[in-house]
Amino acid sequence: SSLFAAIDMAPRDPILGITEAFNADTNPGKINLGVGVYYDDNGKVPLLACVQKAEAKLMEQQSPRTYLPIEGLAAYDKAVQELVFGAGSPILQEKRAVTVQALGGTGALKIGADFLKRFSPNAEVFISDPSWENHRALFESAGFVVNNYTYYDPATHGVNFEGMLESLKAMPQGSIVVLHACCHNPTGADLTQEQWGKVIEVVTANELVPFLDMAYQGFGAGIAEDGAVVRRFAEAGGPLLISNSFSKSFSLYGERVGALSVVASNAEEAARLLSQLKRVVRTNYSNPPTHGGKVVATVLSTPELRQLWEDELAGMRVRIKEMRDALVKKLADKAPGRDFEFVREQVGMFSYSGLTKEQVGKLRAESIYAVDTGRICVAALNSKNIDRVVDAVAKVL
Ligand code: PLP
Repeated sequence: SSLFAAIDMAPRDPILGITEAFNADTNPGKINLGVGVYYDDNGKVPLLACVQKAEAKLMEQQSPRTYLPIEGLAAYDKAVQELVFGAGSPILQEKRAVTVQALGGTGALKIGADFLKRFSPNAEVFISDPSWENHRALFESAGFVVNNYTYYDPATHGVNFEGMLESLKAMPQGSIVVLHACCHNPTGADLTQEQWGKVIEVVTANELVPFLDMAYQGFGAGIAEDGAVVRRFAEAGGPLLISNSFSKSFSLYGERVGALSVVASNAEEAARLLSQLKRVVRTNYSNPPTHGGKVVATVLSTPELRQLWEDELAGMRVRIKEMRDALVKKLADKAPGRDFEFVREQVGMFSYSGLTKEQVGKLRAESIYAVDTGRICVAALNSKNIDRVVDAVAKVL
């Protein structure tokens, strides 16, 4: 017991801490904007119809639960590749990409980080300032030194693009740069296609190793539009890693469905990479779970279900945009003098609202919960709670 007696309490996860405080709040009108989850207009996490139909189909088949291969379900990995790189992509025809099913986007990042640590132990990792709070912890726990690159500009509520380019140019050759493919978490500030072109130029010229994290494909401009950046990086020819997740786009958070894809220079190199990725998986959790992978593979490879999914995902994307519009319009009414137009420009589930820590504290007194940084989840707003949010925000400004 002396071993355990000396162990300190680990710091609380700041975002899960908000949820705990929210759950303990007895005010029936409480609103949680601190989450990273999509809620429908009734404030519920949706169970997509395409998922229900795929599950009904799988129930009929009643297949035994044997182990999946280390790299996951073949049909799933193939469907992921076609979604991420585009069906008919030359990368796939040349067999330059390998994909392993992973435990959500987080699991994909962890496999990628462990893999990179084995083969590039001295590289440093760069993440955006700010970034998803788990990026730093994940790469540090894989043994890397993690630095920031310039990203967000509080003055414009957008990207400080010149600053970002300067940061990229200053990185030592071989550095690993983690980029949000779309729907930047936490800021909602994305690069334009033109800016991506410049980033790709610098990444290629400096021989950096890009790691694209795509947790929100389909929540920005659309499935193909959001994935375009992956194809552009892949065509640039250098090494490339992509983590993707179906937690949000299929509303399958708890099933832990994601994947890591790695692009090599040729098919022979790709086969060697896959063998090493399998080794990382094998020593972590041996092989992934069956259910979520089967559901996603079934939906993506069955034309009617695929169409249904695309429609349901478009519904989520459009509802978030409507909430952005409504928030801007209503705030213009209630808080004249203050410009929230930038909320309309931001993309995905989140907005860096510009609210200060102090203002977030005052909102909490009204049972409205947001992150201290001012991050709000636009996907947690709905037609029933938005007026209360707007009134409270106008009051604390
Ligand atoms: N990457 C980013 C940028 C995210 O925002 C998230 C989830 O919030 C993830 C990765 C992890 O996704 P998952 O829940 O599938 O592990």
